[in-house]
Amino acid sequence: MDQPFIDKQKKVEALKSEISFLNQKIKELEAEVNSIQRQCNHQFQENAFMRKCIKCHHAESLHY
Ligand SMILES: [Zn+2]
Repeated sequence: MDQPFIDKQKKVEALKSEISFLNQKIKELEAEVNSIQRQCNHQFQENAFMRKCIKCHHAESLHY
């Protein structure tokens, strides 16, 4: 009778492990983006609020 409970628990465990896998993946991808942006010779396109590099999408706010 507690089979659905076990199923849910397993499902949650599987989801949590996928979340931590994806979080790790996100960190890797962000590190890759950061590395590309550090090497970029930025070419900014400005608007009233921010400027954004058209090559690597690095963005800076113009308001501090
Ligand atoms: Zn750039």
